[in-house]
Amino acid sequence: MLKVSHIKKYYDDFLAVDDLSFEVKPGEIFGLLGVNGAGKTTTFRMIIGLLEPSSGKITLDGKPIDYSVTDKIGFLTEERSLLTKLTVLEQAIYYGVLKGMKEEDIERRLDELLEKFKIADYKNKKIKELSKGNQQKVQFIMAIINNPKLLILDEPFSGLDPFNVELFKDEIKEMASNGSMIIFSSHRMEHVELFCKKLIVLKNGKSVLEGDLKEIKHKFRKKNIIISGEVDTEEIKKIKGVISVNKNNLDYEVKIADESVVDLVFKVVSKGKNITKFLVEEPSLNEIFIEKVGETYEK
Ligand code: ATP
Repeated sequence: MLKVSHIKKYYDDFLAVDDLSFEVKPGEIFGLLGVNGAGKTTTFRMIIGLLEPSSGKITLDGKPIDYSVTDKIGFLTEERSLLTKLTVLEQAIYYGVLKGMKEEDIERRLDELLEKFKIADYKNKKIKELSKGNQQKVQFIMAIINNPKLLILDEPFSGLDPFNVELFKDEIKEMASNGSMIIFSSHRMEHVELFCKKLIVLKNGKSVLEGDLKEIKHKFRKKNIIISGEVDTEEIKKIKGVISVNKNNLDYEVKIADESVVDLVFKVVSKGKNITKFLVEEPSLNEIFIEKVGETYEK
């Protein structure tokens, strides 16, 4: 288990991470979120041992993280960090050896992953000759070449088309089901919702929201009602507790302050015509995020 306990990080007298604690168990995909500058990269760097926390403790399976466990860790950074003059195989050997692997094991694992990501033909190509999406695949392969116990993924899907996003998702889920601990960071809330059962949201280095995603959604009082049909939207807007009424394609989306407003909206809708849908939905993680962080999460 990864255990982060009360860590703080100062850059001179600027507090970038402020008393952060969380745990990630084997098989879990944990979301670490926050707007630009919230302290995510600083936290990742402390976890992998590149930065020393100013105070607090980080342990992996009960032991501090130092060079002796770095071969059990994989990190996909947001920025590309490939040696682009090398071929894919040369790069894999470079990374794999750093992670304490034998050359023949590296090549076997590389072949398996290149096949999975449908880029087997690129094994002996120079990385600079590959497209942006294929470089992202290579970077992901490098992060998991050593089958890491702890994998940190910072915006793993950037530059990928939807087909390749699916390939990545399958691999990430498979790694979790094989017992890896995964920390997932993305500005795309729909990806976070899909993957992470638990999450933490940082603002100015501090946690502003944390816990089980289902519980977070349940506790958030605001809900959305989706309606399909001809309804008097002006009447709905007049109801106390209705925050907004918007048209989304063919449906109306009514945002309400809490569940007690559902009945009042239903009364108006029942007077409408051709009603084919009346659905009460939990808010999206994006809506909760915007409310908690106070600004939009889109880059
Ligand atoms: P992003 O989403 O933009 O990558 P982040 O959440 O990863 O942001 P960090 O890079 O951890 O944020 O930065 C947190 C804060 O610490 C920011 O205010 C940043 O300016 C500051 N910071 C980061 N690195 C340093 C440094 N080496 N020296 C001084 N301040 C730093």
